[in-house]
Amino acid sequence: MPDTGRERPRLSVRTSVSVPVRLRDGRETTPSVVSFHGLPAGWPVDKEPLALVFGTPGPVPLVRVHSECLTGDVFGSLRCDCGPQLAEAMARFADEGGILLYLRQEGRGIGLYNKLDAYALQDTGADTFEANRMLDLPDDARDYWVAAAALQALGHTEVALVSNNPDKQRQLTEHGITVVEAVPTGCHVNPFNDRYLRAKVDQAGHRIAVEAAGTAGVVEAVGTVGTVGEGALS
Ligand SMILES: [Zn+2]
Repeated sequence: MPDTGRERPRLSVRTSVSVPVRLRDGRETTPSVVSFHGLPAGWPVDKEPLALVFGTPGPVPLVRVHSECLTGDVFGSLRCDCGPQLAEAMARFADEGGILLYLRQEGRGIGLYNKLDAYALQDTGADTFEANRMLDLPDDARDYWVAAAALQALGHTEVALVSNNPDKQRQLTEHGITVVEAVPTGCHVNPFNDRYLRAKVDQAGHRIAVEAAGTAGVVEAVGTVGTVGEGALS
């Protein structure tokens, strides 16, 4: 997410259109896809955020703030857990209602090409955070103010946040969103993302119970998420 260094404005709803979608389990559902007015001047068109509103969210909606991952979301990359997390949220929201905020901050905010450079370094032994440092890039450049502003534009300041990432919850809180409940996601581990998930747990405090990790032949073992300790926010 670009940091404009300027005052962060309020957003308002620009358009809301129905977009029927087919979920990965084959079901169909029709969220409203919402765009926003009020992004700072110069905001790149390829960074425009979206909200997908499923059903009629209650006063404390389930919310997933998802950062774009082209390789995971679109191509089904097994190097990370983004695709399964996105699919899990959409399936859940189709059943229970909810808001998916899709933020265009690829590669934890460093961009697509840098992410691929980091993958190349990971293939020589670095973990996901070490690789970023070797490239003189931050561990995590994501900025969630636009998610908070979008939620406010949709009329929500209290949410049940579907996430394992403590930084996401902290930033939303700083930007005026009350996280009433933290709802953990599933643990989507496979032999290719095992090290990545462990690094997120060990170095960024993500709350994921990485189970069955690296087991040959296990392509996607959806395990349980660890019950997290007091004040647990994921
Ligand atoms: Zn990913």
